[in-house]
Amino acid sequence: MSEAEADEGPAVPGAGGAERTRRDEPDEHEGQAARMRRPRIAAAVAAAVLFAGLGAVIAVTTPWNPLPGPVPGGHAEPDPALDFSPAEIARSQAFDSAINPPAYAGLVVGLALILALGLTPVGARFIGWVTARTRRWALRVVIGALALTTLLRVAGLPFRIWRESVLRRYGLSTQSWPEWLVDQLKSLGVTWVIYAVALLLLYAVVRRFPRYWWTGAAAGGFLLVVLVSFIYPIAVEPVFNRFHSLRQEPLRSDLLAMAERDGVPVTDVLVADASRRTTSLNAYVSGFGSTRRIVLYDTLLKSPPERIESIVGHELGHAKRNDVLWGTLVGALGVAGAMCLLHLLMTSPRLLRRAGIDPAGPPGTRPGARGTGAADPRSIALVLALVTAGTQLSGPVMNLVSRHIEARADVHALNLTRDPATFVSMQHELSVRNISDLNPDALESLLWLSHPPGPGRIAMARDWARRNGVPEPPPLR
Ligand SMILES: [Zn+2]
Repeated sequence: MSEAEADEGPAVPGAGGAERTRRDEPDEHEGQAARMRRPRIAAAVAAAVLFAGLGAVIAVTTPWNPLPGPVPGGHAEPDPALDFSPAEIARSQAFDSAINPPAYAGLVVGLALILALGLTPVGARFIGWVTARTRRWALRVVIGALALTTLLRVAGLPFRIWRESVLRRYGLSTQSWPEWLVDQLKSLGVTWVIYAVALLLLYAVVRRFPRYWWTGAAAGGFLLVVLVSFIYPIAVEPVFNRFHSLRQEPLRSDLLAMAERDGVPVTDVLVADASRRTTSLNAYVSGFGSTRRIVLYDTLLKSPPERIESIVGHELGHAKRNDVLWGTLVGALGVAGAMCLLHLLMTSPRLLRRAGIDPAGPPGTRPGARGTGAADPRSIALVLALVTAGTQLSGPVMNLVSRHIEARADVHALNLTRDPATFVSMQHELSVRNISDLNPDALESLLWLSHPPGPGRIAMARDWARRNGVPEPPPLR
């Protein structure tokens, strides 16, 4: 008998003990592997069906060609030099060079850290250490979730300070450092709540249904995404901003009349006090059903009314097409599919051992009862690493889809206002005030770009004008 074989056995003296080990242990492991085979096949099939459904929904609902039909004289090419001065272009490039290093460095360090924690025993040891004082699983899940999200947030802090100092240098941030820090703490608090709730629910179903927990996790994940998206405008947004009804007349009546003309039921337009944080311009739609709202940054209110109408026309496009609801359903389907994949990964003995988790379950549990490795709260680091990897991989697809949905909302604004000249001047103002990237490279587009770049949006407005026989907006320079 080799030393390695002897090491595997329990501390039972004599050859009989070693023999029993050889007879029992492989059987136990094989029994457990056999018990997991059917649930794993079912989870794989469910993941395939859900992702196929997700792919079909994306393929069918994404407006791949937001401005269909031929454009007389051919499509206008995006060209920053047509509408932006050399100084504006240089400023955009300088800002891009300044903001990219903290963005990329923060991304790489954050990814490296969570992968190092989740795919080695370090993360499990860390959670074991912070939860050493309690044996109650729910408390261990909550403490583990809070500790891990805080650790990741602290590791990213230098890069967010770096980013904020760039924003400040370029006049985009209006916050003092203490105000900024309060925002960071609020954001961490929101992360705590969301992760603690999601992980508590996940570990509850893993413990309750050791073999088929993917069913509960997929259904629960789906519902949780829908719920969070629904309550976000009333539960999360007020944590960061104050909102009031737009009272400025005649702008208010004009906007509500435009919504009515558009057939979108809007009873109110909200204004967020964004100026206490930023000088950038923005507007958005969030929520759906009874929580749906159109919000303007107060920074926007100094723009001429017809430009604000152009922006609200775009937001009405989102509202009319229910873009938030569809996006929520796509996200919910993605999370449901991801939970099935998570089951496959979290029931892989190799992956669990790599993460320092005993595949047979936490100490003191019997295999088959609550004894799957995934039920061990120390596996939170592995879960977070897998979720982060999945989110990162799906980001470029989501950005690609989002850019087409944004282009459709732009076309909606043009159809509604029939005023491409104002649209072009508003897009120019947005790009200049927000110091947007006028010419993003492929990697920037993949990672960060949820909207088409300003020059692309302007070029499409010129296409729209040609197609609709409206005078084409001349170059702004
Ligand atoms: Zn939009």
